[in-house]
Amino acid sequence: MKNPRVVVIGAGLGGLSAAISLRAAGYEVEVFEKNERIGGKLNVMEKDGFTFDLGPSIFTLPQYFEDLFARAGKRMADYVELDAVTPHWRNFFEDGLVLDLYEEPDLMRRELEKLAGEAGKHWKEFESFMGYARQQYGIIEEGYLKQGLDNLWEFLRYYGLRKIGKQIDYGRSMAEAIEAHFSDPHMRSIFEYFIKYVGSSALAAPGYMNLMPVIQFDYGLWYVRGGMYALAEGLGKLMEEMGIPVHLNAGVVAINRGGRQVTGLTLRDGTVVKSDLVVSNMEVIPTYKRLLSESPRFLKKLEKFAPACSGLVIHLGTKKAYPELAHHNFFYSGNQHKHFKTVFEEGRLPEDPTLYVVAPTRTDPSKAPEGCDNIKILPHIPPLAEGSGITHEDYLALRDRILDKMERMGLKNLRENIVVQDVLTPVDIERMYGSNGGSIYGVVSDWKLNHGFKAPKCSKKYGNLYFCGGSVNPGGGMPMAILSGQKVADRIIARQPPG
Ligand SMILES: Cc1cc2nc3c(=O)[nH]c(=O)nc-3n(C[C@H](O)[C@H](O)[C@H](O)COP(=O)(O)OP(=O)(O)OC[C@H]3O[C@@H](n4cnc5c(N)ncnc54)[C@H](O)[C@@H]3O)c2cc1C
Repeated sequence: MKNPRVVVIGAGLGGLSAAISLRAAGYEVEVFEKNERIGGKLNVMEKDGFTFDLGPSIFTLPQYFEDLFARAGKRMADYVELDAVTPHWRNFFEDGLVLDLYEEPDLMRRELEKLAGEAGKHWKEFESFMGYARQQYGIIEEGYLKQGLDNLWEFLRYYGLRKIGKQIDYGRSMAEAIEAHFSDPHMRSIFEYFIKYVGSSALAAPGYMNLMPVIQFDYGLWYVRGGMYALAEGLGKLMEEMGIPVHLNAGVVAINRGGRQVTGLTLRDGTVVKSDLVVSNMEVIPTYKRLLSESPRFLKKLEKFAPACSGLVIHLGTKKAYPELAHHNFFYSGNQHKHFKTVFEEGRLPEDPTLYVVAPTRTDPSKAPEGCDNIKILPHIPPLAEGSGITHEDYLALRDRILDKMERMGLKNLRENIVVQDVLTPVDIERMYGSNGGSIYGVVSDWKLNHGFKAPKCSKKYGNLYFCGGSVNPGGGMPMAILSGQKVADRIIARQPPG
């Protein structure tokens, strides 16, 4: 029997991972990508001697990437090299406190002495929180991540009601659990903002999402040597060696179907590509809406898979260096709960957002001309929504408030020193990657809306249509996108095995 032919729509990390996993299992695989290069949101831009990583800058959970290379019989270290980043994060507060997060317990303990009150108390609280976070991580990793659980029913069947009730922190929000562990408001803000990894709100995400600090403290925080895009290049090299054709500038405009089966794709230039299976790395809702033109009634059922946040991505090249910045920095909102409410409940631009600020030259001086700095600023903001009334001028006004905040909190005369500037709004992000409303992490993690689940990897309507990437379980962020590609391949192998 001939091996089934699979076409993958999109060369984001999920699509690349699915293509590699399926090819390694014996399928005939081809990838169709609308952009001129692979990587999706893992993207890069060079301007006047500065090299900006347009998308992700924090690399975590290398084991899931290593697993992918292992499926192809290769060692990741032969394709992608990683450098540990230290400190992990530098945290700036409006009251002047600056506190670093370290993986090394002795350094972390010393940092906590900067907090008011008895130092030993903060360390004890931190250790107690990490004990709880490790317990949550262990349970979620064993089932949701490693088994690739895809919905509440599979979750219940795997864990059982008893384990869910007693061991998984489902009953309260992430922020409530943090409040129960930490007495210091700075520590609360820092640990709430680990929700950044999935672009959601700590007020709405379930308590078990407090597993996220474990990702960093136990498995490290990494930089991809040569720049984040070197990861896409490493995956591209592997695909070439495996003989997986990747068609660039090949936008897909329709998925063709016959009854409850899909039969292939139509490309922008009219070419029809036939296949036995389709895997879409385009997000689930845009795929059903734009490539399958499903009815409003069908789309309504998917509304619970609402987009995670978008971002205002500001890239700055400055003519002087700002040594006060570490590689990764957070400038906290004076009122972070208000920030979460404004963005995630009211769908408005925040007055005073928490900012994620990256200065990659701390680890890799080649990213800016000598004596200069390369700074990316990323506040989370609402995805595009009909009737929001948010205009381009509103985005620019937010940029101005952000630059004010950074100057106020320590980066003196930042504006005067900018020599290169580039700003991406949710409109640009939607256009560039086809994500739902310009979402940067796929589907939001919200207990009330979707119990923290993303969309399933197998289409309920078409027996041979599958999904991978940030909009399906286990969700957004680079390691999860990479895992989604492997897990969708496992589902396909189980349902429609190669000949
Ligand atoms: C500014 C920013 C900062 C981030 N920071 C981090 C971070 O520090 N750490 C981290 O882990 N993650 C981070 N992320 C999230 C991370 O980048 C994503 O979760 C991950 O890369 C998404 O992978 P994906 O598989 O969902 O595919 P995407 O990257 O969404 O790729 C989808 C691909 O499909 C293509 N496509 C869409 N429609 C079509 C079509 N019709 N035809 C053909 N091709 C199509 C797109 O062009 C794109 O290449 C960040 C993202 C952004 C934008």
